[in-house]
Amino acid sequence: MKLQFITHPRPSNLTDQEWNSWTWQLQNSLKSQADFEKNFELTEEEKKAFRDSQGVFNIRTTPYYANLCRPDPKDPLRRIMMPTVMELEDGQQALLDPLGEKKNNPVSRIIHRYSDRVLFLVTDICSVYCRYCTRKHFTGQDQAFIKESEFHQALDYVRSHPEIREVILSGGDPLTLSDSHLEKVLSSIREIDHVEIIRVGTRMPVVCPMRVTPELSQILRKYAPVFVMTHFNHPREVTLEAKQALEMMVDHGVPVLNQMVLLNGVNNHPAIVQALSRRLLACRVKPYYMFQCDPSEGSDHFRTSIEDSEAIQRELWGHLSGLAMPTLSLDIPNGGGKVTLAPNFEIFRDSESRTYKGWDGVVEKYVNPSENLRQTPADVSEYQTEWNLIRGKN
Ligand SMILES: *Cc1c(COP(=O)(O)O)cnc(C)c1O
Repeated sequence: MKLQFITHPRPSNLTDQEWNSWTWQLQNSLKSQADFEKNFELTEEEKKAFRDSQGVFNIRTTPYYANLCRPDPKDPLRRIMMPTVMELEDGQQALLDPLGEKKNNPVSRIIHRYSDRVLFLVTDICSVYCRYCTRKHFTGQDQAFIKESEFHQALDYVRSHPEIREVILSGGDPLTLSDSHLEKVLSSIREIDHVEIIRVGTRMPVVCPMRVTPELSQILRKYAPVFVMTHFNHPREVTLEAKQALEMMVDHGVPVLNQMVLLNGVNNHPAIVQALSRRLLACRVKPYYMFQCDPSEGSDHFRTSIEDSEAIQRELWGHLSGLAMPTLSLDIPNGGGKVTLAPNFEIFRDSESRTYKGWDGVVEKYVNPSENLRQTPADVSEYQTEWNLIRGKN
């Protein structure tokens, strides 16, 4: 059985030129109830959500992404971008800033939580406002491109912190910027000698794959190493158009990884996660993280229990290539950082050994070597200085 990548015919009243233009897709985004009614038969609940959610959290989707949805109100892709009254209900846990990013916000637009890497929020605009967004406190206020003064302040911050080895462009969606704006950001960061890696976190290959052009791919390649982190959540998002976009970046020498979020009623089943992961891997995209959904305001109906997430991971273990297996990760609320979760295979431990029961039931013991064989690598001093710099130690 060969993997299929489907293509969705564009609506017949539009030309190929319009449909395949990313700026057309953004300019013709669906924002209002009236826009959505042209594409969907809205339920009474959805209509109520449009009325009641005014000003709470922005609503937007691209025509391309709307076109992937099925008429069923329970359709997983529709749930990702269609407002519902459930977002307005109080949850078990509802934090406006679930990651405590405001605590780790030394200057505007920079989040510095881990010593060696920062997030740089270059725009607050997304082409689709995912209803479970973790950054509702920031996204969708349409401030567009960062102010010149904030841009320079953010760069100064990175420049004056030599422990920062990686800058993660986020937002908002950095690929909603024009090529020239994006190139300005990338080239300015590249001028800082101690920044080794640039990451671009984007949902554009999912919701607007026409954004990925040869010109964009060349820009990303020019400032290498630039890693692109996509956010596919469901196998039906990996269309033929998305596949071509992903392959174009990879063919230009740009590594692409994917971060998904486990979402109730969208992808919380091992059959869906494996289908997504194998399709991505076939496009040479490495599934990286499978996130536990953050308790942002109005997201309780999207969250899985930790036990459900662990059960999905456990069922995949042993049946899905390590290349296709994302790491289950949870952000500790209020800025605690990430914890990765893994099935517990240990059934016994003592000071010399541990005993494990593997994924298919094999029980065996791993015995440690003798303590007195332990030695430190002879050349460690050559690497100690850079490590101390990153950790802030002398
Ligand atoms: C997730 C995150 C990162 C990146 O973490 P990785 O484990 O390297 O992918 C960096 N900074 C912040 C604030 C984050 O939340």
